[in-house]
Amino acid sequence: MTDHGAARPTSHHHHEHEHDHDPVNPGVDAAQCPVMAGRFVAKAKAEAKGWVRQYAGATYWLCCAGCVPKFDADPANYAVA
Ligand SMILES: [Zn+2]
Repeated sequence: MTDHGAARPTSHHHHEHEHDHDPVNPGVDAAQCPVMAGRFVAKAKAEAKGWVRQYAGATYWLCCAGCVPKFDADPANYAVA
């Protein structure tokens, strides 16, 4: 038996599954944070964290814990009519 296993071609693909950051898909189940304009947050995540506020008949999803007290302090400033 000829066994020359020295030069092995590296044509061997490896699968990468690195989904440790959650990609937010704007428009589908995400909302834009009224405090940090342009920041999107997944509604399910905001709801799980308690980052949801109702103001003037509308629902606002905040992008992070830091935005919650800011919104609460002056919701009229952040609410978009
Ligand atoms: Zn935020």
